[in-house]
Amino acid sequence: MSRKFAAIVATGVALAVVVGSLLVLALGHDRQPKPAAASTQTSSTPTNTPSPTPTPTETPTGNAPPSTPHQPAPNPTAAIAQGNKKVLFFSFGDGPDPLWTPQILQVLGKHGAHATFFELGEMQAAHPGLREQVLAAGNTIGSHSITHPQLTAISPARRHHEIFDGPRSTCFRPPYGATNPKVRADIRAAGMVQVLWDVDPRDWARPGVSAIVRNILTHTRNHNVILMHDGGGNRAETVAALDQVLTVFKAQGYTFAAMDC
Ligand SMILES: [Zn+2]
Repeated sequence: MSRKFAAIVATGVALAVVVGSLLVLALGHDRQPKPAAASTQTSSTPTNTPSPTPTPTETPTGNAPPSTPHQPAPNPTAAIAQGNKKVLFFSFGDGPDPLWTPQILQVLGKHGAHATFFELGEMQAAHPGLREQVLAAGNTIGSHSITHPQLTAISPARRHHEIFDGPRSTCFRPPYGATNPKVRADIRAAGMVQVLWDVDPRDWARPGVSAIVRNILTHTRNHNVILMHDGGGNRAETVAALDQVLTVFKAQGYTFAAMDC
């Protein structure tokens, strides 16, 4: 009986000590002179206070619709190719390359043509400044992943990394054109649209300048996207073929536009 009583007393004392120290902690916490310190801290660390709305200068183009500034166009050629306007969309992959990209830019400039460059993250990182050169000439840039893997044959984690952490754009062209519902879902989730092509002259296989030219001239229809390469190997044939087909198409009344990427 007396042992039980002692136990109850001991428990009561212990409880009182715990409650007491909790009270001290709570009061102590509330008494901290934080208002002044907190406001000073906030104003001296602006990176901790995200601005509620993005500033207009953060949008890729100054005249983008303000309501949806970061939305990719559902089809990056549709708005440009409206009506019967004769327009073709040349596109280049696997760059930027310090030898070949400037030569492609030179040929495009000579014909008053623009194009879209689907670049690799690792090439952008290895050759700083080329991306800016491409954009400064009025072209647009799409993502072609970081290291050019076959996205349908790698782990979900690596696929995610290749799509989400590659070149910044609203257009994505999967390497080898290899795609499936999971690849498309990742591209959409990353805020991009998948862009393939209509005409593939297989310039990467170096079949000869005349073969590339013939292939393009035979298969190209109005509003088509043409696949070529400014990286991934010797592109002398691509440069020469581009000069020839632009000459022919221009005489037929075509203009050459960059996609909305
Ligand atoms: Zn490629």
